[in-house]
Amino acid sequence: MDNAVQLTGLSQPEMISFVETMGEPAYRGRQLFAALQHRRLRSFDEITDLPKDLRARLNEMAKAATLKIESQYTSGDGTRRYLMKTHDGLPVETVFIPEERRDTICFSSQSGCPLQCTFCLTAQLGLLRSLTAGEIVEQIHIALNNAYGTGVKTPRGTNLVAMGAGEPLLNLDQLLKALRVMADPQGLHIVPNRVTVSTAGVVPRILDLAKTSDRPHLAISLAAATDELRNELMPINKRWPPEDLLSACKVFEKTLKPGERLTFEYVMLDGVNDSDEQARQLANLLNRHDIRSKVNLIPHNPADPLPYRPSSDQTVERFKNILESKGIHTYVRRPRGRDIFAACGQLAARQTTLSNRIESSLVGANN
Ligand code: SAH
Repeated sequence: MDNAVQLTGLSQPEMISFVETMGEPAYRGRQLFAALQHRRLRSFDEITDLPKDLRARLNEMAKAATLKIESQYTSGDGTRRYLMKTHDGLPVETVFIPEERRDTICFSSQSGCPLQCTFCLTAQLGLLRSLTAGEIVEQIHIALNNAYGTGVKTPRGTNLVAMGAGEPLLNLDQLLKALRVMADPQGLHIVPNRVTVSTAGVVPRILDLAKTSDRPHLAISLAAATDELRNELMPINKRWPPEDLLSACKVFEKTLKPGERLTFEYVMLDGVNDSDEQARQLANLLNRHDIRSKVNLIPHNPADPLPYRPSSDQTVERFKNILESKGIHTYVRRPRGRDIFAACGQLAARQTTLSNRIESSLVGANN
């Protein structure tokens, strides 16, 4: 990009400093912040309460929006996927998931992903680059504007999950910056308590997050309870094996608020990690570390060329029962948006066509 300042990533005090460098009074900064973050306007020309000459100067030196929407897909279950491009042409994907009580937006922290989890389609992109705080915030603006209308108040508040493309804890500074901007009551006003960040297990950053005030909730992707199998499925395990990971979780546990639990995510792969014995190994691992937590079982979302199939409903149920019999709180997550490549682990900048829509919904119906 040219030298234009990307304004969506600025906090309100930073916005005020920015307009002051332009020789404008502080209240113009507050006005601009509210226009971009509260009304979610994406161009200076729409901010008609600013003087015309100021809008012209802003157009020269700053950007109100940088992501371009390339395509949008709507699933049979109402889930929407937005495929966007950064100013330097890289894919960014965001998913809007309508839910009964509160809608959820699943955003990306990176374009592509450097981790090579064998069950995840995003891994096939490799890391293109980490996203800026502004690019993270913009994803939420785009999804909210599309779902409810530009600037329209969200009907029931919104939950955010950093579970799209990328490893959020490898982009922690920009992620936390984005969360601070979004928490501002004069802006989006989505507080960290409404946000869950999912990690493949970057141990030092889990410890950093534990020290962060106003931190989001944390979810850990396990996928296997033994060192050997986890090495195979999630190569990051070679750097931080389960024992190190669970020790970091134990430190994190001390920062949990009353009623809050750490979440462990476990993708269910047919014949790979879904046996009764593996359920007992998982329960033993979690019980040995005695962490206030719950387990979310995620049925695998298949996609060509991933070499796995989802576990059957009966197997998932058996696995859940074994965990529960050992005192582990367990939930089965319902896949959303599978037919449009919007479900967990399916974000790989796919341009969905009608034929693969049908194909993938058949895959979904077969299990
Ligand atoms: N890198 C982060 C966040 C992105 S993945 C992490 O690993 O946690 C979000 C969740 O989707 C993770 O729990 C991951 O294990 C799961 N996932 C990845 N690929 C999947 C697939 N094909 N089917 C189901 N879940 C998948």
